[in-house]
Amino acid sequence: MKRRLKLKKGFKITIFLIIVLSLGAVIGINKYKEYLYHQTYEYKLLEHGYSMDDIKIIQSNWHTNEEIEFYLNNPVNNNYIKLMQEKYYLKKNYQQYIEYMKDNPKLDLNTIVRNINIHYNEEYYTTDFKTDSSLEELMLVNKYYSLDSDYEPTDLVSISSKYAWGEPGSKKVKSNVLDAFIEMWEAAKEDGYYLMINSAYRPYKDQEIIYNNYKAKQGQKYADSIAAHPGHSEHQTGLCLDIFSKTNSNKQTFGDSEAAAWLKNNSYKYGFILRYPEDPNINVTGFTYEAWHFRYVGKEAAKYIYENNIIFEEYYAYFIEK
Ligand code: ZN
Repeated sequence: MKRRLKLKKGFKITIFLIIVLSLGAVIGINKYKEYLYHQTYEYKLLEHGYSMDDIKIIQSNWHTNEEIEFYLNNPVNNNYIKLMQEKYYLKKNYQQYIEYMKDNPKLDLNTIVRNINIHYNEEYYTTDFKTDSSLEELMLVNKYYSLDSDYEPTDLVSISSKYAWGEPGSKKVKSNVLDAFIEMWEAAKEDGYYLMINSAYRPYKDQEIIYNNYKAKQGQKYADSIAAHPGHSEHQTGLCLDIFSKTNSNKQTFGDSEAAAWLKNNSYKYGFILRYPEDPNINVTGFTYEAWHFRYVGKEAAKYIYENNIIFEEYYAYFIEK
């Protein structure tokens, strides 16, 4: 009898101990899980003041711990989140966007993203980025990106005097660009406009002469406002044409002509873009409005640039350079 009681008591104690230990284990595991969760960036960002939606955006755009620490080391700022939702946002430029935002508090986020993507925050002719000429019709040449002095395009062909002014055969352009131009020329003619080319491929040394002449006569400031430094002119690519109409070759008035309007709205169908547009909001190409300067970029890029009303630099930064 006594023994049975003892056994019962022992059994009860064992059960009790098992329950206590199990509970302890469950609590311990939960505490440990909580401890682990508190170490995560999700928890830290929530504690810092960001919402779960914000955190999802942060996490989908950021990968390294160092990058997420940035949010914890700075006060909560909704612009940081909105920035990542900008159409042309590039992750690699994030720190630069933030710096630029601080320096230019009046600029909207769209402008901040654009200016940084296209290096507009840098002084002209100070970056010395090399143009990747292997990109062919998508290569970028501007006041930041330059071609070497010995760069010459392949497949240059002479333009017939039917399409170009000057000494017959003296003007050259890349053969695929001439094909595209002739297709456009025919379409323009159908609509009543007779297009004429005033300038096409220009070798490095010619650009050097042009620039140095302006510089010698009217000083560097004036020269910079009117001509590109050698190596920085798109005409060296063999992808550019200065196009006027037979009845108007005047740089002052051509922009107001019907032919210019036709070119502006139809050239993309043939792979050309109005490279230096008039709209002051997008006049960040480094060149003032040139109603006659058309650049061949191929039909796909030209269509996108036209339909989205962006400049080639923006397209290049987002789709090519990345
Ligand atoms: Zn030009």
